[in-house]
Amino acid sequence: DEIRGLDKHDPSKLYMVDLESGLHYLLRVELATHKMLEGEKLETFKDFIAVTAQLFPGRQPVMKLLETLHEWLVNLPLDKIPYDAILDLVNNKMRIAGIYLPSRVKWVGCQGSRPELRGYTCSLWKLFHSLTVQAAIRAEEFPKADPSHPDVLKVMRRYIQHFFGCRECAEHFEEMAKESMDSVKSANGAVLWLWQKHNVVNNRIAGALSEDPQFPKVQWPTHDLCPLCRGEKEPHSWNEAEVLAFLKHFYSIDNASEQFTM
Ligand code: FAD
Repeated sequence: DEIRGLDKHDPSKLYMVDLESGLHYLLRVELATHKMLEGEKLETFKDFIAVTAQLFPGRQPVMKLLETLHEWLVNLPLDKIPYDAILDLVNNKMRIAGIYLPSRVKWVGCQGSRPELRGYTCSLWKLFHSLTVQAAIRAEEFPKADPSHPDVLKVMRRYIQHFFGCRECAEHFEEMAKESMDSVKSANGAVLWLWQKHNVVNNRIAGALSEDPQFPKVQWPTHDLCPLCRGEKEPHSWNEAEVLAFLKHFYSIDNASEQFTM
């Protein structure tokens, strides 16, 4: 399966199976190292699920699972929740109809050339890019809607801080967040901020041991993916309006392929 995925992967597509595998890993592996959720950790997890339940561009059974988890977390009058209780819900122990999150990973757009490369961290970037894009699309469709739209970046910052297994990554990300996240004033601004910071990371870790030689770190999107995104003057300048339009297309539901989903 994995080799086939790598062969057939089209870099201009978003693969739902990567996003779902990422959610599976987040909920069943990363979170599992925290046996009891309380205080700021619990609040962060609740907010993460609230944002994801509202904005994840997923298939029905996965959306229903996220919504059920969200409702359960909101209505639970406890200030501590054991991880096992969350896992029971994620595994749908109550056998509620129409709820399902695949329980293993299968990477396609995030498939590395070796098992220890790419995978989860790639899917986490894709998840948060997708959420910022969904928030921006909603803000466009409903300009007069609730101004307290879920702030994806803030939730991402707290998730990374409290849960992301790569602690070195979390520290780097927190430094960038401290420096400039507060200056983001709109949903489109959030899409661009995350794109820009992801490129900063790409630049910083290009050539590192963690890099997959078959997927060298580049300033993204490449010219092939989006010729109009590059500015005319310098090789490294961008046309941000084109980049924004490209990101809103690339990370949209319309560009998400359900091929390979489990
Ligand atoms: P990734 O960088 O994971 O990107 C995944 C996909 O997103 C790409 O294949 C491409 O389709 C798309 N993409 C690429 N660039 C952009 C962009 N600018 N905007 C939108 N989409 C884009 N690793 C370290 O070694 N050190 C770190 O400090 C570090 N910090 C990290 C911080 C965070 C928040 C995260 C989520 C990961 C971090 N990582 C870090 C891991 C690293 O960024 C990669 O995820 C990992 O090396 C796998 O790389 P990849 O080739 O799959 O591409």
